[in-house]
Amino acid sequence: MKRDLKGIIAEMTLEEKAGLCSGLDFWNTKGIERLGIPSIMMTDGPHGLRKQRASADHLGLFDSVPATCFPSAAGLATSWDRDLLRKVGVALGEECQAEEVGVLLGPGANIKRSPLCGRNFEYFSEDPYLSSQMAAEHIQGVQSQGVGTSLKHFAANNQEHRRMSTNAVVDERTLREIYLASFEGAVKQGQPWTVMCAYNKLNGEFCAENERLLTDILKEEWGHEGFVVSDWGAVNERADGLKAGLELEMPSSAGTGDQKIIDAVRSGRLSEENLNVAVERLLRVIFKAVDYKKLDATYDVEEHHRLAREVARESMVLLKNENNILPLAKEGRIAVVGALAKQPRYQGGGSSHIKPTKLDDIIEELTKSAGSQATITYAKGYDLDSDASDSAQIEEAARIAGGSDVVVIFAGLPERYESEGFDRTHLRIPDNQIKVIEAVGAVQSRVVVVLSNGAPIEMSWLSSVNGVLEAYLGGQAMGGAIADLLFGDANPCGKLAETFPVQLSDNPSYLFFPGDGDTVTYNEGIYVGYRYYDTKKLRPLFPFGHGLSYTSFEYSDLTVNQTHIKDSDEIIVSVKVKNCGTLAGKEIVQLYVRDVASRVSRPDKELKGFGKVSLEPGEEKQVTFTLDKRTFAYYHVGLQDWVVETGDFEVLVGKSSADIVLKETVHVISSLVIQPTFTRNSTVGDVLEHPQLVPVIMELVKHSPFSSPADVEGDGLSSEMMAAFLKYLPIRGLAAFSGGALTEDMLDKVILNLNKKSLV
Ligand code: BGC
Repeated sequence: MKRDLKGIIAEMTLEEKAGLCSGLDFWNTKGIERLGIPSIMMTDGPHGLRKQRASADHLGLFDSVPATCFPSAAGLATSWDRDLLRKVGVALGEECQAEEVGVLLGPGANIKRSPLCGRNFEYFSEDPYLSSQMAAEHIQGVQSQGVGTSLKHFAANNQEHRRMSTNAVVDERTLREIYLASFEGAVKQGQPWTVMCAYNKLNGEFCAENERLLTDILKEEWGHEGFVVSDWGAVNERADGLKAGLELEMPSSAGTGDQKIIDAVRSGRLSEENLNVAVERLLRVIFKAVDYKKLDATYDVEEHHRLAREVARESMVLLKNENNILPLAKEGRIAVVGALAKQPRYQGGGSSHIKPTKLDDIIEELTKSAGSQATITYAKGYDLDSDASDSAQIEEAARIAGGSDVVVIFAGLPERYESEGFDRTHLRIPDNQIKVIEAVGAVQSRVVVVLSNGAPIEMSWLSSVNGVLEAYLGGQAMGGAIADLLFGDANPCGKLAETFPVQLSDNPSYLFFPGDGDTVTYNEGIYVGYRYYDTKKLRPLFPFGHGLSYTSFEYSDLTVNQTHIKDSDEIIVSVKVKNCGTLAGKEIVQLYVRDVASRVSRPDKELKGFGKVSLEPGEEKQVTFTLDKRTFAYYHVGLQDWVVETGDFEVLVGKSSADIVLKETVHVISSLVIQPTFTRNSTVGDVLEHPQLVPVIMELVKHSPFSSPADVEGDGLSSEMMAAFLKYLPIRGLAAFSGGALTEDMLDKVILNLNKKSLV
């Protein structure tokens, strides 16, 4: 419905306007009855609805209404499946409609800088492109149902440790290429109704009052049309926040924040126009939520549970499958070991913790799938609430393992290990679980481990098992999905959206995480995740993009429609993928780009495209990608823009970041001509890069001892060394070595001439 928002604002008192900029309570905005302004509800998010029955605190002390619990973002991203993410979004939107929720608080697009971050389960990836693509689909899915989203936590909230006070110090290029890029794609493509600002400071300023972040970049550069909401309790100085672009404070500040806004307007510190603009942004979303509200909306609980199972199946990653131990035969004696089989860890802890509509019983699902020809026995193996081993439990596990044909061990991280609010300090699973895996491995040669965890773990025990299925936090239908995959009723098709390092200390942020006191400096820069491991040539335990299948795929015919382009051109890349096995399966094809030679430090490769294809045995399909300027660009801090350097780029197509199978080279010509400016401290090499300037500089070189290689070689200097010396010699050095032949005056004139000629 079209409304005259400016007209409504004109009728509002200063108090009403300020009041609209903070919540009514924990979850609702304020309504203003006399002006017909409704109140809307916002609730968590992101992978299920957490609508509390009682309106009080926000950390889940109160019971919430049942909702479908989908795999958390760490798992959703391993599907690499845009359509699936959108379907999840649609289902979430339907549940929001049924519960009269106007805005779902999610998805989270923070980058997984360190595997220790306690909230990584709620984030998608270490790669900004994959993360932004997943977030955009999630957003579009939810919003297609007339329900808003809140893309969070903007920005650089990459740890839980001191999350409300820490200052993330991130250099501009890293911010743009990694941490902001993840949000940028999601905002531009998904246009979330709201964006939630993070608790922390970014480069010295709280995100909640960071004008550059909230206004210059988010609203002006990226064109965000909705409003910014504070993370719950993230507001520092309310009036500063409003001025910076933070429209809504949540939860209610019981009038304190509103009064600060009123005072700031009255004292002239904040213009009323500024407040009007904020109110207009708020009203636009509030009315949209109300206009799109569906009366008597319901959803099909069973259908959503089925979708949760499909999503879980698509998300789980087969990490290891030695001697094709999987899929399991539906016969014989199968031992199931581990408390996590009976008390599954299927979702993360904190504000995203929801009450599922139903929950699969893993052993029941395994029994159903295995059928009547198999027998399943169970041993607990370890306790979940302690790390201490119990020898009787271990003996029992070893006993049933020894008497079985195959053992499936359920292991992973108990809830007390990872959650919103704190970070892990190591990557190990509890010691009592390791002991069980080792004891079972000692008596049984056929062992599969199924993992439930929200983020990478170290696997000192990996060589003692044949198979590992990473189930992540697979949601309420995790049990059924595990059964489908273990017995081959479905073929694993997830791939890692993050690197699993061999050990924590291999991670690039290791020395700088979680920082000192209230400062964390991202010294590893752009080298996050595989960008680091691949450039450093450090072998991880499992690389980014890795995931096995019960079938095999072959890639061929990589073609690029143009091999010489301008950076303003788009190119189409295609590759054929064939299923060479006997089972139907899905393959995630990944496209990376490498800048062959660059003046600036660039990662070995960066993900720039991906596609997931479903193939019957023997079937072949073509996957295509469109690459544009941004594919080849880096962020130039001086120019504050994305810049492509003229040169060759390799287009790499592979099964993971560590398994590139085909490549092509493309020559890209930059549209940017950077006008060089020379000073006394420019090097001779810098000048020699411009052919038209060679004669000018040679005028100076001839006065130096370097003009005659024979003389210098006589002094024991190789011509290579001399060439290198000259290349990196500041122009002023030519005078210093000329024995007075080159005066300062001559130097100045030549520099002037260089700058004139460089314009030609
Ligand atoms: C979390 C947000 C969440 C909010 C409301 C905060 O503590 O950081 O992600 O949406 O609470 O529950």
